[in-house]
Amino acid sequence: MAEPRISPDAAAQRPRSRMTAADAASPGQRNITLFLSGDVMPGRGIDQVLPCPGRPEIHEPCARSALEYVALAEHASGPIAKPVAHAYIWGDALAELERRSADVRIINLETAVTRSEDAWPGKGIHYRMHPENIPCIATAGIDCCVLANNHVLDWGYPGLEETLATLHRSGLKTAGAGRNDDEAAAPAVLEVPGKGRVLVFAFGHESSGVPPQWAATEKRSGINLLPDLSEATASRIGQAVRAVKRPGDIALVSLHWGSNWGYDIPREHRAFAHQLVDSAAIDILHGHSSHHPRGIEVYRNKPILYGCGDLLNDYEGITGYEQFRGDLALLYFVTFDAANGRLVGLGMTPLQIRRLRLNRASSRDAAWLKGMLDRECARWGGAVEMSAPKPAAPRQAPRGGKKHLGRPGVFLGSAPKPAAPRQAPRGGKKHLGRPGVFLESPEQTLELRWAG
Ligand SMILES: [Zn+2]
Repeated sequence: MAEPRISPDAAAQRPRSRMTAADAASPGQRNITLFLSGDVMPGRGIDQVLPCPGRPEIHEPCARSALEYVALAEHASGPIAKPVAHAYIWGDALAELERRSADVRIINLETAVTRSEDAWPGKGIHYRMHPENIPCIATAGIDCCVLANNHVLDWGYPGLEETLATLHRSGLKTAGAGRNDDEAAAPAVLEVPGKGRVLVFAFGHESSGVPPQWAATEKRSGINLLPDLSEATASRIGQAVRAVKRPGDIALVSLHWGSNWGYDIPREHRAFAHQLVDSAAIDILHGHSSHHPRGIEVYRNKPILYGCGDLLNDYEGITGYEQFRGDLALLYFVTFDAANGRLVGLGMTPLQIRRLRLNRASSRDAAWLKGMLDRECARWGGAVEMSAPKPAAPRQAPRGGKKHLGRPGVFLGSAPKPAAPRQAPRGGKKHLGRPGVFLESPEQTLELRWAG
């Protein structure tokens, strides 16, 4: 059942006192920042433009080749110089990841990474990326891939096992899938020297389209599938969290749940999220599955991201849900005080997927995202503001990507010719989209303010 929407009157009565990073910070605290994203899907069409594409054959009702998705994207946005470099797909996100200096980087990897031809029978869509394209994940400095989703077994058990082996060989941690139920349930433990640890517990739920038979068992590989969203299940998650969590740890539950489109949060989902905070000792719920961002609630100082939205996919040129702006994406940066797990700040960077690459969102699109999030967070007392970032302090050991100098301000540009495809991201300002005079991206970021 849908959550009742906030009325205009209720919105006007939202708490005036809301917290931001600056308000919440105290002198000398040790901040720990997590980069989070929703679905990253570098398979199918995207795999076909990477340096080592797999076989393009797919088994969809309306498509027989993954190359059809490349053609759709090129038709919508312009040519892509194939093959692209591994870093290409991250585009402007790389500079932003560098500038924000997150301590850990966690994504939901929404594809198998395999050569398997063992397409799961009866499933309409099968995503895979060739294992030799795995540097496209490592190049963004990703620490942990969440795998408890409805695509990691698209190419069968051999496909899952090759996915796990490929990621682990590349030094990536995984959570939410494994060669048996114990492995699938085990958290990824991310050490942050001098600050503490981030524990990633990952789960899938049938509401996201995970077939029930994908649940890992004692004797079979699979994913860490939630049986339900009951209090008893939340309590069992609490036992697992408490068995590992030490003082100073940040416990994150990553959950693939809910529908692909729409803003309503089912009452049952919200109740479960609250139970995880109340009884499972978690510090943040990282929800995903929706193709577009959903509202964020800060409940008892713990952020609940109901749906982070896709960060990267090959849906460009596919029509049908334009009102949700699935082409727009967010990088999420969540900062805690490492000493006590207190939320310090939650920032988001607006991007747009064009030519199978992440690009800075235009001012207009960033404002659209700001307005949407502000509206969706209002029902829980939150608000979203836009700001231009300050220049970052130079980082000692960049992990890839160019150093970002952060130029706040709004720039008025004129309509460009279609730009030549770029092999490597330069964190630039080139606008590749719509004709006409436009406001070039001023590198806005969005910041959540919450009742506190
Ligand atoms: Zn999914």
